[in-house]
Amino acid sequence: MKRVYSSFNLAAVHHARNLLATEGIPAVVKNEFLSSAMGDLPPAECQAELWLVDPRDVARAEELLFRRQASGEDWICACGERSGPQFTQCWKCAAYRS
Ligand SMILES: [Zn+2]
Repeated sequence: MKRVYSSFNLAAVHHARNLLATEGIPAVVKNEFLSSAMGDLPPAECQAELWLVDPRDVARAEELLFRRQASGEDWICACGERSGPQFTQCWKCAAYRS
């Protein structure tokens, strides 16, 4: 298992997992429920984490999650949130890109 992403925003972590799933890359979310313990644990311990089931997927996963597609542009959701071109769904309100 290899961690590729972590965030205090649980929705963003789930969104990243869904993005990988659509590309056939299995990944699991860890620390999903720890954020409720924030205040008792060091903040870094409370981030939700995305782990690849197969570490060999790491290059593809990082490309999907972090690299901008050369042809794409950021898009603004109806809720006002800006998302990168690799995302088809708003991480904040879960609306699909129109
Ligand atoms: Zn939105």
